[in-house]
Amino acid sequence: MEIRNDSQKSKTQKRKPLHNIYDKEALRKRLDSEAFRRITLSFYRYVILEDVKSLRDRLYEEWESLGVLGRIYVAREGINAQISVPSPNMELFRANLESRAVFKNMPFKIAVEDDGKSFLKLDLKVRKKIVADGLDDDSFDVTNVGNHLGAEEFNRHLEDKNTIVVDVRNHYESEIGHFENALLPQSDTFREELRLLLELLQGKEDNKILMYCTGGIRCEKASAWLKHHGYKDVNQLHGGIISYAHEVAEKGLESKFKGKNFVFDGRLQETIGEEIISTCHQCGSKSDRHVNCANPGCHILFIQCETCTAAFDGCCTEECKSVLHLPADKQKEIRKGKANENRFFTKSRIRPKVSDLYRIQKGSESA
Ligand SMILES: [Zn+2]
Ligand SMILES: [Zn+2]
Repeated sequence: MEIRNDSQKSKTQKRKPLHNIYDKEALRKRLDSEAFRRITLSFYRYVILEDVKSLRDRLYEEWESLGVLGRIYVAREGINAQISVPSPNMELFRANLESRAVFKNMPFKIAVEDDGKSFLKLDLKVRKKIVADGLDDDSFDVTNVGNHLGAEEFNRHLEDKNTIVVDVRNHYESEIGHFENALLPQSDTFREELRLLLELLQGKEDNKILMYCTGGIRCEKASAWLKHHGYKDVNQLHGGIISYAHEVAEKGLESKFKGKNFVFDGRLQETIGEEIISTCHQCGSKSDRHVNCANPGCHILFIQCETCTAAFDGCCTEECKSVLHLPADKQKEIRKGKANENRFFTKSRIRPKVSDLYRIQKGSESA
């Protein structure tokens, strides 16, 4: 059954704008005052979507009325969504997806740890691609993907001597958590990752390749890309680390994933195993606390232990710390002059929106 937009429209003659109109403070207040629980989940599908622009507007209208928050990309090649849904509206949201043939039977990845504060607003964008991969999709068969393995099968294949397990995520993701013995390409972006994959796996065309990512979407493209380049036995973790963690818990399997799962929302990470496998970028002690430098002119993402957070006032360097204590207008001046000069620990930088969210979340935690 299609949700009727026309009836909604006639009720309110003036159309509501199809984008967020509130500032961050207002959004945060709204989220904090909610009396219901939210469920954080993600889903994606590679499927040809027609008339993407108007689909986007209809989805925005319908999902906004259901109180959905999060980040969704729609493109001619499909949909990629990371959202939170008010738990009383879960059924309605499911029904809304079912109302469109292209979104039927959509598998959800429900967040492992969830405080419901993962997103502040609904952000629904039309993109050329649902994951920026830099590939020319007409140059290879994107539908020729690898075998999808569940947690049990994945574990079994890990034991195989001929197996090479490779992390398809970026370095700041695999740094805090990854599968035992996995190759960890040190990429900043998925685009770069795809290039590094071919480099690292050169001459391994006959090996069994096991790949994994957060929720499975990147493996869809990366596995087809490897097969196109002559890799014969390409396998991918179905539903990514998120589904793996659920399945391991449900079936009481051994988790071969060590550390935390980096996620792209306000939470930044989910606990999968108890171990901390990474170290503070400043003092070298064990830590998996991802933070953004407190100096807004830097804002770099890095790992900082609590002791160093206190010592550096949340900054990545003494330089940033001294900038942080300057008057606001002075700081602004510096930002204009030499943007991003203080990126010492890594050249990568997460999308600012994610970092903004994290700062907000950090504020709410200490309150
Ligand atoms: Zn430290
Ligand atoms: Zn800094």
